[in-house]
Amino acid sequence: MFRFSSLMLGKALVVAEMVNGKVSPATLSAITAASKVGPVTALVAGSNAKDAAAVVATVQSVAEVLATVGEHYDHGLPEEYAPLIEAAVQAHKYTHVFAGTSAFGKNVVPRAAALAGCMPIAEITAVKSEDTFVRQAFAGNAITTVKSKDKVKYCTVRGTAFERVAAEGGSATVSDLPAVSPVKSAKFVEDKLTKSDKPDLATAATVIAGGRGMKSGENFKILEELAAPLHAAVGATRAVVDAGYVPNEMQVGQTGKTVAPNFYLACGISGAIQHVAGMKDSKVIAVINTDEEAPFFQIADYGIVDDLFKVVPALTEKVKANAK
Ligand SMILES: Cc1cc2nc3c(=O)[nH]c(=O)nc-3n(C[C@H](O)[C@H](O)[C@H](O)COP(=O)(O)OP(=O)(O)OC[C@H]3O[C@@H](n4cnc5c(N)ncnc54)[C@H](O)[C@@H]3O)c2cc1C
Repeated sequence: MFRFSSLMLGKALVVAEMVNGKVSPATLSAITAASKVGPVTALVAGSNAKDAAAVVATVQSVAEVLATVGEHYDHGLPEEYAPLIEAAVQAHKYTHVFAGTSAFGKNVVPRAAALAGCMPIAEITAVKSEDTFVRQAFAGNAITTVKSKDKVKYCTVRGTAFERVAAEGGSATVSDLPAVSPVKSAKFVEDKLTKSDKPDLATAATVIAGGRGMKSGENFKILEELAAPLHAAVGATRAVVDAGYVPNEMQVGQTGKTVAPNFYLACGISGAIQHVAGMKDSKVIAVINTDEEAPFFQIADYGIVDDLFKVVPALTEKVKANAK
């Protein structure tokens, strides 16, 4: 079933990103945004594009899947993807190109837009009409509504602003889109992925984050101990990432990940605007900080002015006792 809105004058292409054989959560949100302007076609490319297309074809709200087989698409290089997107737009006259705001989407969409002589619109949070979109500016302190006069609108979509469509229940048709010859101006060398069986930070329902108040990377252990029984993900500020306490992928904020969990617990974080930009849409925000003047208290639903090294272990005890 497709949910067509009253706008529906467009024809949208969503550049799909696959993660471990599944459609990425960011893509599922981008499909929701795309379905507001018209019927949605999803594009998958890579050496196993046929298998990926079969997976994408079951996603709700997708009418058609274009599959492009070519190993030069395997690592999401924008140099290779941009001409392919351009070829798809030319061949099928799409009015919109959407992708999730992930490293992949942020890489690929602006380059494809530039190739077409269009202005990319980054990280939209709402689709007002087929040419008018809402996005945030100045680290989330201003909301801008932009109207694009471009023939084709190229947008990345903020995942936390759009529900994800269901990954199953759809039945799209699958067509082939010929590969464009390899550009070969960039080469993939290697991936270094952190292996983790813990909930994904970007999609977890509960996030516990630590800042400079944690004092060391070793001390993040106490956040992990609280996170485990709550099935929470652990995040961090840029200050602690820069200090080498924890890896980059844990950073929440303007230059890190945007999260909007049901519950965000900030431990030893001052609440700088660049951090808050990445989490202020969380449903319930709680803050533990020794400084009662810390800016974070201004946006917190709950706050404890105390030493986190006292409060966090006490909370863990309570959670464990309740779980029994
Ligand atoms: C262009 C730009 C982009 C940026 N992007 C990001 C971003 O994406 N994400 C991000 O996080 N930051 C970002 N920053 C950095 C940001 O401005 C802040 O410097 C950073 O968020 C501060 O991190 P913090 O809260 O951990 O440290 P601090 O500001 O030093 O705060 C530490 C807090 O811990 C409290 N504390 C200390 N000890 C304890 C204790 N025992 N118990 C309880 N509380 C304690 C202190 O009272 C203090 O409030 C960016 C900055 C710039 C300029």
